[in-house]
Amino acid sequence: MTRASAASGMVSVFFLETGGCAGCAMELAALDGAARDAGRDGVCFVRTPRHADILLVAGPVTRAMVPVLEQAWQAMPGTRILMAIGDCAIDGGVFGENYAVLGGLRGRVHLDMSLPGCPPSPDMILSAITRWVREVGLPAPSGRRDV
Ligand code: SF4
Repeated sequence: MTRASAASGMVSVFFLETGGCAGCAMELAALDGAARDAGRDGVCFVRTPRHADILLVAGPVTRAMVPVLEQAWQAMPGTRILMAIGDCAIDGGVFGENYAVLGGLRGRVHLDMSLPGCPPSPDMILSAITRWVREVGLPAPSGRRDV
């Protein structure tokens, strides 16, 4: 975890869409938005991988996005966690492999967690993140203390 995350009781997540139909991205936006507000459950979406504990990848990995994905991963500090969200990020899903699409992450890199679905719901994504944090023994996200 980053020092900031450990101190705040929040788990920091950077989301990268590497291709796909944007369905998973919309579910992630819903999780980050005011209605679901993942911050209440201790999960904070950050705008740069430099502040992130977890890299969430959605969509198949298009060839054009490979360098972006590598740069985001290299920019992350401390303990880095890679999660594939949705069928496409895991194995290419409906996009498979072709001249523009490399496919999914499974079998190409070490994945700490995969969450299947097309798309998985915001609650499924949130529970996968909090379950993983518990399983690896990191401090449980405690959430924001709103007034
Ligand atoms: S898993 Fe489904 S919703 Fe997500 S990017 Fe692929 S096709 Fe779209």
